[in-house]
Amino acid sequence: MEKIKMTTPIVEIDGDEMTRIMWQMVKEELILPHVELKSEYYDLGLLHRNDTDDQITVEAAEAALKYGVALKCATITANAQRMVEYPQLKKMYRSPNATIRSIMGGTIFREPILIDAVKPIVRNWKKPITIARHAYGDVYKAVELYTEEKGSGSLYFRAETGEEKEILAYQADGPAIWQLQHNSEESIRAFARSCFTYALSEKKDLWFSSKDTISTVYDGRFKAIFEEEFAPFREQFKENGITYFYTLIDDAVSRVMRSEGGFIWACKNYDGDVMSDMLSTCFGSLAMMTSVLVTPEGQYEYEAAHGTVTRHYYRYLKGEETSTNPVATIFVWANGLRKRGELDGNKALMEFGQRLKDATLDTLNAGIMTNDLILLCEDKDHFRSVTTAEFIHEVASRL
Ligand code: NAP
Ligand code: MG
Repeated sequence: MEKIKMTTPIVEIDGDEMTRIMWQMVKEELILPHVELKSEYYDLGLLHRNDTDDQITVEAAEAALKYGVALKCATITANAQRMVEYPQLKKMYRSPNATIRSIMGGTIFREPILIDAVKPIVRNWKKPITIARHAYGDVYKAVELYTEEKGSGSLYFRAETGEEKEILAYQADGPAIWQLQHNSEESIRAFARSCFTYALSEKKDLWFSSKDTISTVYDGRFKAIFEEEFAPFREQFKENGITYFYTLIDDAVSRVMRSEGGFIWACKNYDGDVMSDMLSTCFGSLAMMTSVLVTPEGQYEYEAAHGTVTRHYYRYLKGEETSTNPVATIFVWANGLRKRGELDGNKALMEFGQRLKDATLDTLNAGIMTNDLILLCEDKDHFRSVTTAEFIHEVASRL
């Protein structure tokens, strides 16, 4: 069979640990036999980030903006424990995702992959709930300080004109912790526009939530900007029978639990981080959550929502065959190639992406699954638990 040709390269961003192993397996067994892969490769493995003083991460993000479609493997975010584990690290590097997001901007949409055998924990959920996470600022871009002395802290702003503003935050009479968050109006507007655009293209209702009753200036601004950006979309929403709905974050949480799903929930950065983990757990496994960063200009970065699955990696290193779930990783390749095909008018590549997803779902619906999913099935006897390698073979044979 002739392999499918590509005109524009995809940006391939490699990562760490178990997901790096799965990345290679998926590529070799499911992609390369069928596609003459054109990819611009960026190795974001922790040690290579260290070798390049993290420049490689910046370059990967810039390539994603240039080419428009990037596929990313999960990566280690360095922390105190990793500094001990990898003594050669020159510094505690920032999360690669945070670096990429701050360069690309845009919005992350996360959607669970539903299969027949795994019923959502929340019984009334019938359709997937897509979470849109604002990918810039707030606590992820905050500066923090720990002080031991008595003293006062304030929020201070100096305008370029020289005008100054200062608000006393707290008078500390002992050790205290401080944090200064920010966001930019431009980023919030872009977030709102991506959400309205995506809701329209998916023909799904859009919810947005924040805490503007407590945070009247910060969250209040988010609410007002969404309202303003909705204006040009209002008519099209009506024509498509979809709605935009704003409510407080705590009210949204209780409404989400009572809903049947099928909508997009736009969240601020931290809410999106936390709520997407809750949703993925309720819908099945974190391993069944897909994620895509979409810029308002229409560039896409696909990734699995889960991390590098460290515990499985250590077992793999000991020579054990693990049953790590590669479904989200397969969907990264499938969705990314499909989007590349769509943007290039390459029908064969688009179809291949869809077939890869279908073959994966067929495998799962035939009862062949990794262990994390078996544990979630009610009638365990009807399902066959397989290793990662076996699962990928099964998908390959259906593909
Ligand atoms: P994790 O890698 O998502 O794994 C947490 C646990 O969830 C695993 O130990 C495993 O549970 C289960 N799990 C996750 N994905 C799975 C899969 N595909 N198949 C089967 N089980 C799966 O999160 P973490 O342990 O908190 O983080 C590990 C590393 O990943 C950290 O260095 C973190 O910085 C990084 N991380 C990267 C990203 C990213 O690049 N997007 C996101 C999150 C975390 P059991 O062990 O019980 O089987
Ligand atoms: Mg999270």
